[in-house]
Amino acid sequence: MTVLRRPLIAGNWKMNGLITGGTALAGDLGARLRGAGPVPFDMLVCPPFTLISAVGAAIAGSGLLLGAQDCAAAASGAHTGDISAPMLADAGCGFILVGHSERRADHGEADATVRAKAAAAHGAGVGAVICIGETEAERDAAQAEAVVRRQLAGSLPGGATAANTVIAYEPVWAIGTGRTPTADDVQAIHALIRAETAKIMGVDAAAAIRLLYGGSVKPENAVELLSLPDVDGGLIGGASLKADDFWLIAERST
Ligand code: PEP
Repeated sequence: MTVLRRPLIAGNWKMNGLITGGTALAGDLGARLRGAGPVPFDMLVCPPFTLISAVGAAIAGSGLLLGAQDCAAAASGAHTGDISAPMLADAGCGFILVGHSERRADHGEADATVRAKAAAAHGAGVGAVICIGETEAERDAAQAEAVVRRQLAGSLPGGATAANTVIAYEPVWAIGTGRTPTADDVQAIHALIRAETAKIMGVDAAAAIRLLYGGSVKPENAVELLSLPDVDGGLIGGASLKADDFWLIAERST
């Protein structure tokens, strides 16, 4: 049976944006989405925490999805500076990115932490976008597949389903660098991720789960990278800050 997976084009704004610019960008995308009528993709923006509420208001009723870039593993309590998944659900988020390589590198997040955060998202009724990917040194040492396998097994929580989980493969060396793997390399890793996911979640879930590619996706390479058989959309950093580029990437994803 062929499973149709609706592409997800997700924008990770990282630590960028103030209220005026952020709401203008999101409002622009929301207006394009509303004006386009039915589109064959889902579009998600993940602004910084400070913009979630204002962006939510700017895109209300547009069909543009709202997400966050991280959450705490705990639901509430004495965790100064942290933001929990129930808080993000309450603020209107339908997705939370967990395990982005910048969180893993800057905040020492290991797979067990990522898994706990993904479980927290699920517990709050929010989809988890679980990010995995090898560093350049790991790729050079022919360890990319082993790293991806290990991160996937360690980061996927029990209770993950194709409906509540998205997996984003982001080779660390491709993020923000303008460099990308070859299309063959991307497809090979995505096929591996789907096969490994089948071992953990079962064949049906693996066939239905969305696997995103992330790392220097631009309008110019979107067709090549996002039309691969096991690529079901993209996680976009830099290009998601430009409405024209982000929109073109989405249009070229199907
Ligand atoms: C990212 O931040 O997840 C990312 C893929 O960034 P960029 O598109 O800028 O490489």
